[in-house]
Amino acid sequence: MTVREGSLEPPTRHPLDWQSADFYDEGKLNHELERVFDICHGCRRCVNLCTAFPKLFDLVDESPTLEVDGIPKKDYREVIDRCYLCDMCYMTKCPYVPPHEWNVDFPHLMLRAKAVKFRKGETSFRDKLLSSTDALGKLASIPVVVQMVNAANKAAPVRRLMDSVLGIHQDRVLPEYDSAKFRATAKPDASFPVRDGKTAPGKVAIFSTCYVNYNEPGIGHDLLKVLAHNEIPAIIVDKEACCGMPKLELGDLEAVARNKDLNIPVLAKLAREGYAILTAVPSCTLMFKQELPLMFPDDAEVQAVAEAMFDPFEYLVLRHKDGLLNKTFSQTLGRVSYHIPCHLRVQNMGQKTRELLEMIPGTTVTTVERCAGHDGTWGVKSEFFEQSMKIGRPVFRLMNDAAPDYISSDCAIAGRHIQQGINGSGDNEAGGSKAQKQHPITLIRIAYGL
Ligand code: SF4
Ligand code: SF4
Repeated sequence: MTVREGSLEPPTRHPLDWQSADFYDEGKLNHELERVFDICHGCRRCVNLCTAFPKLFDLVDESPTLEVDGIPKKDYREVIDRCYLCDMCYMTKCPYVPPHEWNVDFPHLMLRAKAVKFRKGETSFRDKLLSSTDALGKLASIPVVVQMVNAANKAAPVRRLMDSVLGIHQDRVLPEYDSAKFRATAKPDASFPVRDGKTAPGKVAIFSTCYVNYNEPGIGHDLLKVLAHNEIPAIIVDKEACCGMPKLELGDLEAVARNKDLNIPVLAKLAREGYAILTAVPSCTLMFKQELPLMFPDDAEVQAVAEAMFDPFEYLVLRHKDGLLNKTFSQTLGRVSYHIPCHLRVQNMGQKTRELLEMIPGTTVTTVERCAGHDGTWGVKSEFFEQSMKIGRPVFRLMNDAAPDYISSDCAIAGRHIQQGINGSGDNEAGGSKAQKQHPITLIRIAYGL
């Protein structure tokens, strides 16, 4: 029988069968890993996407049989731990995704393997700590504690200790915490009349996210300013917990379910009331748009939230299509090097941030559409820091070659990583480039002259 390469049908994603006993059966998992690894070994298209595939192919090439069957099962972990679930292999490369009969979903197979590892109690303390973004943020942003944490994160002796004891690489520039948390200080303006467009609702609820709430509240404040400048009524979501993406990447699917139970009733109510729900962190948006619907395919409230969830630039470009966007920009931005993070690319909505930035007169946008190699926590880990910088190197070079006035990524974590890659530290003034790092929504606020 000839197996056709690729499928004539559009790619589909099967729901994640995480509540079945088979999902956690290690024998069945290993069987599926061997099957998919064998297909990948015959294909090798993804060799330059991340370090998981090169590791797999090295293991094959070093095995006594020169085939996947010669790899000891315990070494599968080497591949699994290198996958940070960016989804790019599934979304951009693989011709064998469903409905193709080979049914390859590499990221979700890695997710299943991580879930088995977690359930077996083999996940490290460091990995559990890093994925507890909400708890860490609450603790680290307490006044007085915040100064200590921020100072410690910059102190070489402390960082050496964190590296050797915790496995957090001493050279990774870490985000600062802010005691003026976004949710406590936000001043949303809901007083404008609602103007629904043909394609997007006329009122917005903001899901702040752990990162914006605890680390960079300015991004949230700038989003509110941009919305108010467009006379779009906005509110902050009443109560929120972490979206669950860090726990998903850890394989702790029960924790994802607990967070879903906290968030979805609140968000579903807003969706039913006709709000567009915006988050300024692509991974969190993706969690609500894609991963939770695949984990809970029969939950109507999860589906309703997915439909109401927008990336901020997706929303603003829809407002533009509806003829409802204020395009009076008073400031030029000059040259912007803009990076599209993987978790935005896989939302399949086109380059909305670039589209909006290019509406600003006198602004030239250099767009870089490659993985920067950080992920939420992967590039922080001692054993993966160097690989993370290596994956990011082409991105750093392409962004810097444009001699930008600004470097920007929708993912604030990727933005900081790129800045470190260009400058060698987190400082704007530290080295290779004088470009300012700013989130794209901040660039829009600047261009509006706000
Ligand atoms: S999901 Fe991303 S990190 Fe994981 S294997 Fe695919 S390309 Fe590599
Ligand atoms: S994930 Fe698909 S495209 Fe990538 S190496 Fe495997 S079979 Fe090939």
